[in-house]
Amino acid sequence: MEKMQFQAESKRLLEMMVNSIYSQKEVFLRELISNASDAIDKIYYKALTDENLTFNKDSYYIKVIPNKEGRTLTIRDTGIGMTKEELENNLGVIAKSGSLAFKSENEIKDGFDIIGQFGVGFYAAFMVADTVTVITKSLNSDVAFKWTSEGADGYTIEPWTKEDVGTEVILNIKDNSEEENYDDYLETYRLQSIIKKYSDFIRYPIKMDTEKSTLKEGTEDEYEDETIEETINSMVPIWKKNKSELTEEDYESFYHEKRYGFDQPLKSIHINVDGTIRYNAILYIPETVPFDYYSKEFEKGLELYSSGVLIMDKCSDLLPDHFGFVKGLVDSEDLSLNISREMLQQDRQLKLIAKNISKKIKSELQGLLKNDREKYEKFYQSFGRQLKFGVYNDFGANKEALQDLLMFYSSKEKKLVTLDEYIARMPEDQNYIYYATGATNERISRLPQTELVADKGYEILYFTDDVDEFAIKMLMTYKEKEFKSVSSADLGIEEDEQDDNEENNQQYADLFESMKQLLEGKVKDVRLSKRLRTHPVCLTADGEVTIEMEKVLSMMPD
Ligand code: ADP
Ligand code: MG
Repeated sequence: MEKMQFQAESKRLLEMMVNSIYSQKEVFLRELISNASDAIDKIYYKALTDENLTFNKDSYYIKVIPNKEGRTLTIRDTGIGMTKEELENNLGVIAKSGSLAFKSENEIKDGFDIIGQFGVGFYAAFMVADTVTVITKSLNSDVAFKWTSEGADGYTIEPWTKEDVGTEVILNIKDNSEEENYDDYLETYRLQSIIKKYSDFIRYPIKMDTEKSTLKEGTEDEYEDETIEETINSMVPIWKKNKSELTEEDYESFYHEKRYGFDQPLKSIHINVDGTIRYNAILYIPETVPFDYYSKEFEKGLELYSSGVLIMDKCSDLLPDHFGFVKGLVDSEDLSLNISREMLQQDRQLKLIAKNISKKIKSELQGLLKNDREKYEKFYQSFGRQLKFGVYNDFGANKEALQDLLMFYSSKEKKLVTLDEYIARMPEDQNYIYYATGATNERISRLPQTELVADKGYEILYFTDDVDEFAIKMLMTYKEKEFKSVSSADLGIEEDEQDDNEENNQQYADLFESMKQLLEGKVKDVRLSKRLRTHPVCLTADGEVTIEMEKVLSMMPD
């Protein structure tokens, strides 16, 4: 029997791979810059371990050079370069990562952020280029080489001249097609914004030449164009800095730089964790509610970085819904990324981080409540509703986490109070946490149903938000005290326990009967009440659901 070989349509395979793993073509630049950064990291590492080498940070950089006339885009680095063998092994073989090998050969410790691991990122260049040329000179070789490829057809390598150690990747940018405007990748402003987006926190400067129009010397209105070399990236991520080096202003300007919001953040939270999972995070609690916050359009999430490179814009798994208002980012080197580096292979680490973050947000909010009441109330005005939804959703699964953060307007204090404060003030003979529902505090305060409870000297919480009572139903109790609506039939107040006093009810039986008939279908019963002080009449609810809740429920779509 003859054994047939599959004919590998390798060129198509490469195209398919390159075009299917990345959701956006622009990430080719992220990949090439990451490689350049890795190459510099390697030479830096060599310098640390080799006495004959010095590493002067200033002479290590990445430069991005578009050339519109020649339709080329060059990414130049002053990194470690490649020998002929390395060119063959690392660029000649798909899915072979020289960086991964470097990491395992050398005991790389903290302070390095070598990014590469899959050995495919380089080929992302073919998403935008029809020919890719690499000119490189290795630290370990006197000769330079030129590697050229038009895709998986193969490649050529020839000796070349290059003075300095390092690598130049030259892309021949494709012609525009109907789907893609490749010219874009030759535009300085576009390249700058891609660099800012994905590679802002690469540790080495990424430079570009930009034209600046300046006033001609000795003139007042004559301008001349001047080319200046600019560093595009911010390099040191704020979250990797020491908290003690940073001021509140630093965090605030980062908030605006990142366009998390136009408001001032109410609170910034900086987390550095170096435990079983290592991560850094900068989180913000905004002051004002985004206009679409309580709508379906709103997308919660934090930015996710891996070793300083942006992986995801909005990672929703990092935030529980009830803290969906939090803005910010997480950077971790311990994530297991999938091959496109746009998703995670498994979410164990992510879950750990999310859990951690959630706890931290809660404790920060509690701290705010304790130490800066005014700020907390501001926060609560904006996002208290979200917390209450949080208690209500998932069948109260989060009530433990959230109940201490809730606040309601108090009849006694005439301001927002916590459940804890309510309990602490309760007279000994009071058995329930009383609440009353209504449209506004003003209107609730005039409800006849509140009279008896208030008369007893008991505090009443005013529920004006339609979610309030639903949330409370999920809580059921707080510190073992049940919640009770002032309009429930049994108020649980001893001497006035019976609303309906049998004898008196008997006496007015006829009157009540005719009233009932008049109100037919509108009330279930009419009886004598002891809870009133100044009002002649009030409504009480018969079952678990209060009148206010019924209103909300009847408004909900079926
Ligand atoms: P990865 O970065 O995941 O290893 P790539 O396909 O991006 O995969 O790159 C493959 C390998 O080619 C790298 O691991 C590295 O060894 C080598 N390489 C790529 N670009 C450069 C460069 N600019 N300088 C030195 N080596 C490079
Ligand atoms: Mg790479």
